Amino acid sequence: MQKDIDNINELDKSQNSDSKSNVISSELLNITKSQLQNIEILKFITYLPELLKPSIEQSIYHKIEEVIFELMKTPEKLDDDSMINKLVNITNERVDLDRAALKAKSEDTKKFITLLIKEYEKSLIVSNNSTEKLDDIKSDLNSLEISEHSNRELKLLQAKLSDIIFDLETNLSESKNELNKGRVECTKLEMDIKKLQSDLEKLKIEKDIDFLTGVLNRRGYTSVILKVENRYVTFNSNYAIIFIDIDDFKDINDTYGHDCGDIILKTFSTVLKKMMREEDVICRYGGEEFVTLINYNDEEEVYNYIKRVKVIVDSHKFIYKNGIKIKVHFSAGISFRSKYNSYEDAIKYADILLYKAKHEGKNRIIMDNSKEIL
Ligand code: GH3
Ligand code: MG
Ligand code: MG
Repeated sequence: MQKDIDNINELDKSQNSDSKSNVISSELLNITKSQLQNIEILKFITYLPELLKPSIEQSIYHKIEEVIFELMKTPEKLDDDSMINKLVNITNERVDLDRAALKAKSEDTKKFITLLIKEYEKSLIVSNNSTEKLDDIKSDLNSLEISEHSNRELKLLQAKLSDIIFDLETNLSESKNELNKGRVECTKLEMDIKKLQSDLEKLKIEKDIDFLTGVLNRRGYTSVILKVENRYVTFNSNYAIIFIDIDDFKDINDTYGHDCGDIILKTFSTVLKKMMREEDVICRYGGEEFVTLINYNDEEEVYNYIKRVKVIVDSHKFIYKNGIKIKVHFSAGISFRSKYNSYEDAIKYADILLYKAKHEGKNRIIMDNSKEIL
């Protein structure tokens, strides 16, 4: 049969290695000589499988195959309009199916790229390294020819995407661990800072307080007097300055020792403090010198305060080491702030009156309103 047909060899060659096409060509070998009326038509038909072969969507293949068989058996049908229409329709259908398949693959590719970009956005919160990596992958994706639409490329893309997500997840979990570690360290630091702050606060208070007597020292007094003065200037809240000095304190030290002197200083300051109100101020101004600031509405209140102190000190003996009883006296000068232009003038005058009290025989209190307490 093969020998009877001129271009059977050509036909055989043109069917190449495609197994489905080989089915067509082997069928073709069975065509009888009588059927080959027009060699040119036959030539055209032999090319039909190649021409109509679907490039992407294979589901139409059997339909194409049927038409080709039909034509091979009855090549004269190629003259019929109905056969030409059939070929046109099947060609259009094939093109439409390929187009639809292409569109679907493009959509898939788009989905991958969208997802990848989303991951890229997320990567901004992780390391620079990941960001660079994602940049590389993005440019790889951009260089992919969408028109190729092969499963292989989509699979590659998917694999790369999966690697990126894996890296991202690893980086994210590392970052999270770092973050948690940082948080723990932060809490610890916060606690340390709080402790330091409270220590500092304590230190600040301690710096303002006299270690021996527990009352304000000169440093603390300096800041308190500013507030007292501010209240006086703003609200006219009157106060008196009492400059107090223990009489012959050196003798006490010399007789009973420095420790005994310390205890007397402590007890004496306690008496001064106990007799005053909360809003009043007491300061150990120097060795055995104290300054108290007494708020008043009536000058008599100041008088009463220092009188009570004097009565207590005069009527008691200070006890040292269970048996040693020591008599203590003190002298004081008192000025009323409202009588002076400044606090400095007022305290200076209180000091002058104290000196006067010492000069006039000690154990006395002299006020700037000419009152004296002996
Ligand atoms: P006057 O009646 O004139 O005030 O005489 P005085 O002896 O009290 O005054 P003087 O200034 O001569 O002596 C004060 C003494 O106070 C001298 C000093 O050693 C003592 N002194 C100062 N600070 C302290 C202290 O913290 N503890 C003790 N125990 N003594 C102190
Ligand atoms: Mg003194
Ligand atoms: Mg003294």
